[in-house]
Amino acid sequence: MERLQKVIAHAGIASRRKAEELIEQGRVTVNGKLVTELGVKVSSRDKVEVDGLPIYREEPVYYLFYKPKNTLSAVSDEFDRTVVNDYFPNVKERIYPIGRLDFDTTGLLLMTNDGEFANLLMHPRYHVEKTYVAKVNAIPTRENLLKLERGVIIDGKKTSKAKARLISQNTKKNSAVVELTIHEGWNHQVKKMFESINCPVVKLKREKFAFLTLDNLQPGMSRPLKTFEVDKLK
Ligand code: URA
Repeated sequence: MERLQKVIAHAGIASRRKAEELIEQGRVTVNGKLVTELGVKVSSRDKVEVDGLPIYREEPVYYLFYKPKNTLSAVSDEFDRTVVNDYFPNVKERIYPIGRLDFDTTGLLLMTNDGEFANLLMHPRYHVEKTYVAKVNAIPTRENLLKLERGVIIDGKKTSKAKARLISQNTKKNSAVVELTIHEGWNHQVKKMFESINCPVVKLKREKFAFLTLDNLQPGMSRPLKTFEVDKLK
């Protein structure tokens, strides 16, 4: 049994909040009976209709995906660029990425059709740790890395405490590889953080999301999340 608003949200019609509004506005029926109170629970056998139309109830599915380079974190693209959903031709559920990685960024991206789960993980209060490995065109000093760790101002906001670790450096090529763990998920955040210490990012990969890693996946490959992994993320 699941709460009615959650079932409506899962169907992809509305967010949980909007679903609550739909119920309160008297637009939802269960087995033909109007329901205007929140908190009603329904099973998969109950017939739920919104504005007289049955909702399509999908089972929630969750995937860990290794996003390759030159792939858009979107369901579709008007310019026909490759999108992450192109890598899931056999998944019939309407999945979408949880958050975004830049077109040229590779690495771990979660995909789901569970709107509530996606909202939870993307909510700024949730503070999920994400670890990136960046190749930068400069060699950051210790001071630079400490700055990243303490927080830098990007777009007028200060980033929260982070962890930065120099993995390797190439003095001849004046480049370095740095691991950076952050908690927010602002637009182009990692690239902007490195820009703020004058180390432009030339390659970026997300290696970790919360406790999840890519393990032995190759770019373009995915695997379903295990039930305990989904529960642990919630
Ligand atoms: N930060 C970035 O700058 N780009 C990404 O794709 C992810 C985080």
